[in-house]
Amino acid sequence: MSHFDRDPILLTPGPLTTSLATKTAMLRDWGSWDSHFNAVTARVRERLTAIINGAASHVCVPMQGSGTFSVEAAVNTLVPRNGHLLALVNGAYGKRMARLTEMMGRHLSVVEAPDDQAISVADVTRALDADASITHVAMIHCETSTGILNPLPEIAAAVESRRKGLIVDAMSSFGALPIDAAKTPFDALVAASGKCIEGPPGMGFVFARRSVLERSAGNSTSLSLDLHDQWQYMEKTTQWRYTPPTHVVVALDAALEQYRAAGGQAARLARYTANYEMLVSGMMELGFRVFVDAKLQAPIIVTFHAPADSKYVFKAFYDRVRDKGFILYPGKLTQLETFRVGCIGAIGPDEMRHAVNAVRDALDELGIKQIAPRAVRAA
Ligand SMILES: *Cc1c(COP(=O)(O)O)cnc(C)c1O
Repeated sequence: MSHFDRDPILLTPGPLTTSLATKTAMLRDWGSWDSHFNAVTARVRERLTAIINGAASHVCVPMQGSGTFSVEAAVNTLVPRNGHLLALVNGAYGKRMARLTEMMGRHLSVVEAPDDQAISVADVTRALDADASITHVAMIHCETSTGILNPLPEIAAAVESRRKGLIVDAMSSFGALPIDAAKTPFDALVAASGKCIEGPPGMGFVFARRSVLERSAGNSTSLSLDLHDQWQYMEKTTQWRYTPPTHVVVALDAALEQYRAAGGQAARLARYTANYEMLVSGMMELGFRVFVDAKLQAPIIVTFHAPADSKYVFKAFYDRVRDKGFILYPGKLTQLETFRVGCIGAIGPDEMRHAVNAVRDALDELGIKQIAPRAVRAA
């Protein structure tokens, strides 16, 4: 156990390590009705929208809660009560999207792909052409449960050509991977404060196509998750409808200022890619193998096969690495023993190199020698 009062580095897909400037922005109290705070909200909405080049077509509606609250708000507000949503599922977040759609009482169909494969555009078009009653498609851009990237531009074009609405969970990709609302058509794209913008967790936001949101009044079956009402109230009063997460909003504003100053999306992607390359090359050198094919992998989070060694137990391994200052993330696959390492947050390749060293030391201490997974060794 470390004796130093130092925060561990979070190698998780949110909450993640934030900069000192972002943390210190939270050391003030704000009145939710105060014009100074409302100006911050307006600036945050504007800055977020600019990242997807969405000002001409979309509005940014912030929502209290973790990212899932915003996904649920988007589905529940933008899909009419008699709508029919086709969920594209190749991991846990796709499954969550399907589940919340059903719980909101919307008709649901699913296109499913294995965990280690991207959603195929051909499967989507086949499903759409087979059932004209489908009104909306929902997809996960980067499926954080594995780290796989789904083909957003291609799926968006296919959905658009069939005149259906598209709802994108871009939670773990927004801000890092390029997304251009003027080129990639969608009704809604959802993300949150505590991911690639590197703010604290606590609020999400939906970029909703203005023309679609305008005719969404009365769709929501939830009071607090009614995105249309949240938007209307904010337009009229400049305030949040219910208590805003004030500290999160001002810290997100600070994080957005740093994002801009550092060079925006291209710079963020470059840093995360450098993190990813440092991590994967270091871990491969130790004998680890990556679950997702490199061609399908986003530089956001990496799933590694657990070591084959019989001495390996995730909890003990996790504890050792944590005591050296790094927080890993458990795997989310039902069939295979894995763990995940995030590449996002206010960290660079140096931190990733130190993390790999911590993993090496933890393996040594635990006497774990057989690192490559059985299945991969046999292949
Ligand atoms: C983080 C994340 C979410 C939101 O999860 P919360 O726990 O509600 O913050 C949703 N979808 C994806 C793809 C994510 O990475």
